[in-house]
Amino acid sequence: MNEPRPALDIRALMKQHAGRNYELHSEHVNPANVRTLRTIGFDRCYVRAEGPCLWDVEGTKYLDFLSGYGVFSLGRNHPEVRRVLTDFLNADYPSLVKMEAPLLSGLLAQELKKRMPNQLDMVFFTNSGTEGVETAIKYAKCATGKPAILHCQKSFHGLTYGALSLNGDESFREGFGPFMPDCRKIPFNDLEALEKELHKGDVAGFIVEPVQGKGVNLPAPGYLRDAAALCRKHGALFIDDEVQSGMGRTGRFLAIEHEGDVDPDIVILSKALSGGFVPVGAVLCKKWIHEKVFSSMSRSVVHSATFSQGSFAMAAGLAALDVIDRHGLVQKAEHFGNRLGEGLRAMIPRYEFLKEVRWRGLMIGIEFGSPKSLTLKAAWALMHKLDKSLFPQAAIMPLLDKHHIITQVAGHNIDVIKLLPPLIISEEDVQWFLKGFEDVLAGMHKFPGPAWDVIADIGRMTVTGRAR
Ligand code: PMP
Repeated sequence: MNEPRPALDIRALMKQHAGRNYELHSEHVNPANVRTLRTIGFDRCYVRAEGPCLWDVEGTKYLDFLSGYGVFSLGRNHPEVRRVLTDFLNADYPSLVKMEAPLLSGLLAQELKKRMPNQLDMVFFTNSGTEGVETAIKYAKCATGKPAILHCQKSFHGLTYGALSLNGDESFREGFGPFMPDCRKIPFNDLEALEKELHKGDVAGFIVEPVQGKGVNLPAPGYLRDAAALCRKHGALFIDDEVQSGMGRTGRFLAIEHEGDVDPDIVILSKALSGGFVPVGAVLCKKWIHEKVFSSMSRSVVHSATFSQGSFAMAAGLAALDVIDRHGLVQKAEHFGNRLGEGLRAMIPRYEFLKEVRWRGLMIGIEFGSPKSLTLKAAWALMHKLDKSLFPQAAIMPLLDKHHIITQVAGHNIDVIKLLPPLIISEEDVQWFLKGFEDVLAGMHKFPGPAWDVIADIGRMTVTGRAR
């Protein structure tokens, strides 16, 4: 008989295959994504992560201003969350018994409720943001008995069918129709449009991001408060999607707190809830809504999911909340958000391409716009004719390549870069970013020049579909 194979040594496996990421993904996971990453020079192989930094296989250190789309608010591999999770794993504690009420989800629900700005009574745990949105859709329809859900232009609530039916960006929807019926889109920041739809009398709920992730669009003063009041008046639920903006990112525990006294019926959290260690989300709602959905013993698990309330995820959530509190991360988000936002805004008079900087805490959008001088204006027009997403790509590429800072473009066909740094950044990180970004901007203002050669190259590659 053959000797049994030795048990998996994950460190040895990672070392043995380090650097094979793109070859493996081309063959087994997503070749189109590999081509995209290669085209924009983001085809790096990261092998270590700590706090706000990542290191690639060659030992180069990077500043992560993307945080896994906002998941790593606590930075990566936070030692205190890791200690809690190691303790937990060593405790042989049960998880997902299902025919019981688990302790840790009860405790995490209690902790989350304490941090809400308004009265929210019941908590459902999910495994992702989009699952939280699906939960909210079901709750709204069941509680009101009405069919329609309103959402905003440019909204993003996830990519499962219900959430995709509420997606304000056609590029995500193309090829996947037909969608859920009775989903209607209205402009963000438009109370009149909202009231017109509510008047029809069939609206179960209005779902809105208090800061729109795609483009980092901010609500007009009073908009969300008045929108919530209109919903209440017309018997529709006001659903606050805080998947990206919640958990302290904007300098308040919920971004909606910036808007004064708003009383959402449902709040959806996810992303940063576990400190990045375990997929998890939470939906908080008012008691009467919950009672409509779970209205009898026979309906007591009418909405549920196998992995909901897993003890490991709940332990991570409790640890993440503890770190956020003890390290004052909500206050830090406000402080460093202002440092970055004001530092960037001060560059506007010096750089024609820089149009506007918008931020709430550490959710920051940098918008480019057509410049005044004739040569640059012509270059801008040409680039936009070639591909509408090219210009901001041309900024994030040298930011990564030359300054080793990871950022992203904030959506399709918009000239906005988004920053979602971890909430644990330092003044040194702020300076690293501001200096790097200014250098990139200066390069883009020299036309003709090397920055523009790069843009033209990607433009050509995008058009011909050929990666470098
Ligand atoms: N809602 C918002 C506001 C989001 O930003 C996202 C994710 N970017 C989602 C929902 C969907 O979350 P997930 O990707 O975890 O499904």
